[in-house]
Amino acid sequence: MKAAPEREPLEKAVPRDVFQAEVDAWAERIGVHPKVVQVRPMKRKWGSCSTAGRVTFDTSLLRQHADFRKRVVVEELLHLRVPNHSKLFKSVLRAYLGGSVRRAGC
Ligand SMILES: [Zn+2]
Repeated sequence: MKAAPEREPLEKAVPRDVFQAEVDAWAERIGVHPKVVQVRPMKRKWGSCSTAGRVTFDTSLLRQHADFRKRVVVEELLHLRVPNHSKLFKSVLRAYLGGSVRRAGC
């Protein structure tokens, strides 16, 4: 199921290269190296990641606010290190996002 963001979408989508820069910055901070970062329409999730290192984000994520984008981006990138939603995953996610951690990406 696709988690509903708390706020209305932005009027203008964040440019693809700006979003890519956000993903790159978080990848560096988390210490992961996604092989491919894709943005394409996704019906049921905001993001996904494959064991082959491909990370995919829903196109409409680019119209979400920065805090929601961050939550999805960090979740997907972190899955490259921890490919599940275990306690460990949640505690690391919390360490990066600080405080409130509601799973949003997948
Ligand atoms: Zn997930």
